[in-house]
Amino acid sequence: MNVVVSPSSCERDDWMQSLEGKGVWRRHEPMAAHTTLAVGGPARWFFRPADRAALIAAIKACPADIVILPLGRGSNMLAPDTGFDGFVVDLSELDAVAFDGCSLRAGAGARMSRVARQCAEHGLSGCEFMATVPGDIGGGVAMNAGCFSQQVSDSLRCIEVILRDGSVIEMRKSDLHMGYRRTDLPTGSIVVSATFELKPDSPEEIRERMRSMRSRRSSTQPLAQPNCGSVFKNPAGDHAARLIEAAGLKGFRIGGAQISEQHANFIVNNGDASSADIVALIRRAQAAVKQHSGIELEPEVRMVGEWEYLLAGGDHG
Ligand SMILES: Cc1cc2nc3c(=O)[nH]c(=O)nc-3n(C[C@H](O)[C@H](O)[C@H](O)COP(=O)(O)OP(=O)(O)OC[C@H]3O[C@@H](n4cnc5c(N)ncnc54)[C@H](O)[C@@H]3O)c2cc1C
Repeated sequence: MNVVVSPSSCERDDWMQSLEGKGVWRRHEPMAAHTTLAVGGPARWFFRPADRAALIAAIKACPADIVILPLGRGSNMLAPDTGFDGFVVDLSELDAVAFDGCSLRAGAGARMSRVARQCAEHGLSGCEFMATVPGDIGGGVAMNAGCFSQQVSDSLRCIEVILRDGSVIEMRKSDLHMGYRRTDLPTGSIVVSATFELKPDSPEEIRERMRSMRSRRSSTQPLAQPNCGSVFKNPAGDHAARLIEAAGLKGFRIGGAQISEQHANFIVNNGDASSADIVALIRRAQAAVKQHSGIELEPEVRMVGEWEYLLAGGDHG
């Protein structure tokens, strides 16, 4: 497998020295350790800022020609086996959550499941679905995550984003044109925090709704194996899982990757899958569904980085 590290990489590390003491930083950090699919080669630069000031310092220090990738829990991310030739910023330390009446402000790194639990404690409804989505608030905003007829955009009021030049601006929901698993963030920006407007409700009823969502999840999804949730968006009026099953691919394997026997819109890593296996399975499912039903499935999982090595017939499994 080819790892993308240019000969000049040591000279290019100077800017990272300024981040010493401001968080955790590493070179060649395996993306497999940071994605729920448990695949992906090394990120050339990786930083987990200790706080917001460290995040801003890092964005300002990072040379303009280096691509920055915000990372939440990696629960909707597929990185190439060859690695990510850029700067991965792990936001998990920016996890403060604060309530003010019916309003909630959460840092990008706050886990959605924790936010849901805290909303229930405060008797505030609108975030119940987050109890079942294994990502962070920043990733939830970027994806407009949702399920059980609720989504982030329903209760979101505004967000703070840091732009590529290090400046921080507030954006209202209406600026973001949020749709089904879609949010228009400014290019190269990072969500720092999100503010939600919630509705008062009985904590017990909120908890009951969360319990019911969780139990529906565990009976229908392959949660014991590494996966990234739904691989494809549902096409209008249909379900990607039904289409994949109808095309005869339920349980189909390529290398260590498999279309789940339990839920055909999930790809699971049986332990030794490569990113190339998963991409090959994604392509196979798209081709089979197109041939069987005439529908083009659009991936929901974010394929980050460069994938040319696969097109060029490189590594596979
Ligand atoms: C078992 C399972 C069940 C799931 N169920 C659902 C579901 O029901 N509904 C649903 O919508 N999704 C679901 N998902 C997918 C995933 O959890 C969501 O998309 C989630 O919102 C991703 O959050 P994350 O923090 O893991 O983001 P990541 O996977 O880390 O990132 C996803 C994308 O968002 C970007 N991003 C992350 N953080 C930021 C930030 N702070 N600023 C800007 N961009 C950022 C990343 O660069 C990447 O492009 C499921 C996943 C799994 C594994």
